[in-house]
Amino acid sequence: MAQQDTEQERAGSSAVLPVDDEGFVIDTVDCEARETAYRERGTSRPITVVGNPVLHKECKDVTEFDDKLAQLVDDMFASQRTAEGVGLAANQIGVDLKVFVYDCPDDEGVRHVGVVCNPVLQELPADQRRLDDSNEGCLSVPTAYASLARPDYAVVTGQDEKGNPITVRGTGYFARCLQHETDHLYGYLYIDRLSKRDRKDALRQMAEGTPRYPVVPND
Ligand SMILES: [Zn+2]
Repeated sequence: MAQQDTEQERAGSSAVLPVDDEGFVIDTVDCEARETAYRERGTSRPITVVGNPVLHKECKDVTEFDDKLAQLVDDMFASQRTAEGVGLAANQIGVDLKVFVYDCPDDEGVRHVGVVCNPVLQELPADQRRLDDSNEGCLSVPTAYASLARPDYAVVTGQDEKGNPITVRGTGYFARCLQHETDHLYGYLYIDRLSKRDRKDALRQMAEGTPRYPVVPND
């Protein structure tokens, strides 16, 4: 998701995150060190944009939690940083696998950094689904923004890059990010959730703007 307006041993820096007493992963510790370690091992790749088929179909489940996956995660953090994003799905760098990474503040401005493989968004009871209609943007729809109502609280279950089961909870902008990135891996962009008119307007903004990061041209 777009922003609103050293040699390291892989084993050490990709350690399993701690879990709080409700079972949610604690992704707010050592954010700077963890994000730096990932992206310094990675190579930044250009971002796919709306119209590229890889963005418009469900990605494959991750089944191998190996070095290749670890390298993909590193590349995703590097790409996310280059594009100044707060979340990035694997198909946004052209890889057909259900993985997303994030580096995103919540409603209290607390930074969250993490990786989710095979994410599933939990259905929440109506009393936990207060809608927030803030602006949303996407690295794959460069330079466009639109207001989109989404629940301001989200819970995603999945696995970390080692294959351990995790549950991630988010509020505010981070809740929006978790929903946006999970959508990506099922083949949906946020503009697919807009009215016809707002979608058209977002595509017009994109056509008129110039991305500040490398993108993969569509055929
Ligand atoms: Zn996006």
